[in-house]
Amino acid sequence: DLGESGVGKTAIIKRYLYDQFNEEKSPSDSMHYVEKDLVVKKKKIKLNIWDTIGQEKYRSLSKLFLNETQIVILVYSIDDAKSFQELNYWNDLYKEQLGDEILLGVVGNKYDLYLNQEVSEDEGKEYAAQNNGIFSQLSAKENKIGIDEYILKLVTEYLNRKINRINLKDFEIIDANKKKGIILTNKQIQDLGFN
Ligand code: GDP
Ligand code: MG
Repeated sequence: DLGESGVGKTAIIKRYLYDQFNEEKSPSDSMHYVEKDLVVKKKKIKLNIWDTIGQEKYRSLSKLFLNETQIVILVYSIDDAKSFQELNYWNDLYKEQLGDEILLGVVGNKYDLYLNQEVSEDEGKEYAAQNNGIFSQLSAKENKIGIDEYILKLVTEYLNRKINRINLKDFEIIDANKKKGIILTNKQIQDLGFN
């Protein structure tokens, strides 16, 4: 994930992985690279997740981060218009280095602070649409909207693109920890190259 310092990138990943949240600013080096397994009909999909470690201020991307990246999530905070404006910078930067074949997610985090909302949902949606991105407002703090569901949506869309837009009606991905999800047909698994 990419975006300005303080928008909650690390918090989103921690919520997703450990279902935890703390109020303190996460120490900038506390999370860099983590893995999470999703299971597709007993076949594992490993998500390699890269977080920035305080590189925000240098406005650069680490070389490691750039290797084999398939999905980029741009994060702003809905109570901070500047963090939204700055998405342009991160958007240009990753496109310059990774090309535009990447699947893009755009997240307005800190949805729990909607009383101080400076960026409307429509503005977020519009920005995502212009950049062909998949949008959601989320809250790492309250997680009512479902970070899990959002990530699954991104992964499903990624797989969907990869296997040439098969019909996703009965396409299912199972969260290895939570045992929920969908089932793939054998044909779909073959298409994915898992067999
Ligand atoms: P990063 O620099 O983008 O990785 O941001 P952090 O994950 O370190 O979060 C920065 C600060 O915002 C911390 O104090 C977090 O507790 C807080 N924060 C993160 N997500 C949320 C959220 O959804 N709601 C609220 N109210 N605060 C959040
Ligand atoms: Mg961070």
